[in-house]
Amino acid sequence: MEPGALLPAELDTPTRDQTPVRFIPTPSAPYQQQHRIARLLEQPAEPGGEPQAVAAAEADDEGADAPPLPHAFGARVLMWKQDPSVGEIGTRRAYLPGPVLAGPRDARIAPGSPGIDAVEPNAFGDFVTQPDTPQFDAVHTFAVVRQTLTMYQRALLVAGLQMPLPWQWNTSMDTRPLAVFPYGLPNVMNAFYSRTQGCLKFGDFVPAGEEARVYTCRSFDIVAHETAHAVLDGLKPQWLLADAPPQTGGLHEAFGDLTAIFLALSQLDQCEAVVAQTKAHLHDKTFLSDIAEQFGLALGGSTGLRNADNDLTLGQAGTQVHAISQVFTGAMYDVLADMFAYERNPLLDDDAAVLHRVAAYLRGLLLRALIAAPDSAASYVDVVNEMLRIVAEDGRPAPYAAFIRNQFARRDVVEQPQSAAGAAPAAGPLAPKVCDKPGARQDRRACCGTMNLPEYHRVDKVLDGEARALARWCAANGRMGECVVPVVAEPAAADRS
Ligand SMILES: [Zn+2]
Repeated sequence: MEPGALLPAELDTPTRDQTPVRFIPTPSAPYQQQHRIARLLEQPAEPGGEPQAVAAAEADDEGADAPPLPHAFGARVLMWKQDPSVGEIGTRRAYLPGPVLAGPRDARIAPGSPGIDAVEPNAFGDFVTQPDTPQFDAVHTFAVVRQTLTMYQRALLVAGLQMPLPWQWNTSMDTRPLAVFPYGLPNVMNAFYSRTQGCLKFGDFVPAGEEARVYTCRSFDIVAHETAHAVLDGLKPQWLLADAPPQTGGLHEAFGDLTAIFLALSQLDQCEAVVAQTKAHLHDKTFLSDIAEQFGLALGGSTGLRNADNDLTLGQAGTQVHAISQVFTGAMYDVLADMFAYERNPLLDDDAAVLHRVAAYLRGLLLRALIAAPDSAASYVDVVNEMLRIVAEDGRPAPYAAFIRNQFARRDVVEQPQSAAGAAPAAGPLAPKVCDKPGARQDRRACCGTMNLPEYHRVDKVLDGEARALARWCAANGRMGECVVPVVAEPAAADRS
């Protein structure tokens, strides 16, 4: 008999006053899991609580013959709660407020082809599927990409910026969505955003010495990180190229890691979890800094996917883009902690609500500063100065600027002006303290798959240059011949002259 199953003698156990009390045993774990999944598949809960009572009251108000209200746009999805490598795997329901079609797909995000068979919405227009199936992974991956894009679109709208966040290839003639391949890299310990393929691809693999397959598409953090590369590439196409200065590459990687943190903090239950775990002291940052640690280790790194809990300075990071990115990520995390400590007032407001609000402002501030930074060769000081300008224009309290100045000065990003040690606003832009050396080349070895794709290294140009040098040598040495199909690439018309 299974543990927890009923014994006949336990069905009705008389108490001392002989009143029979029905004994209800604790169901076994497998039974609970099965029951939970069955309920999720059959009848997703209405968002907002007490839906039936509200619906009944509305029906009474409108008369029994009133036609049912059409379902609003939007879909509920069932997705992984967090990184499934972290202890117990949990699922959550989430509501995506825009229209979502079979796939799932919408105007900006579509399933890659060939890939997982399209997932059809149920009768409620929702995408609620069985965990541990390809359909579930397709829905989960779409949901995280969609939440990331929505988060940043909201951040711009809140700041009064009426602009979409285009993908890099989008033009008036090409509005192709970003293609998502949850199983795009079989037996690969990586994931990437590819501009030339217009897609995100996620790897799956079995770590050495283990049996269970790890799917990178199931990681909230990895999907958010790769989506952030796509978002930033749509805004600043020059920044992703490997011949950009090291700090420019660092901005791309840091934006990926910070997006994972901001996406977690865009969800109220995650804010509550962080507050509860740290007792509202974000420097006890176990939750946010460890969330992707096991994935990071499985992906071959020595730490988690990100490590916001660090004290790295620019002087220590050299040209190692991953390390440089950790400097920016760490400074922004410290600014978040400072702003949260400044704003929180448990007598007036719930800490989780304050954290949710502060993180929302900071992610918008970062995105706006990145947009305002130079289109090529942007450095950390450029972004810091834009953030200082924006907090002043937004009329934020003076300590906001002081937090940004102090944390980036501590990391050797900017010089700390003597007059700005307190809360007084600095006059004019800050000067950089540690700069990329002239001609410094990025070392991307410890970065994610995106940063290591050949397409951003202009490898075709290098090979093409070699081929043309060979052709010149042949011409100079009398080895003349008919034009044949070039080995590497057809030179552009302008290059033939
Ligand atoms: Zn990356």
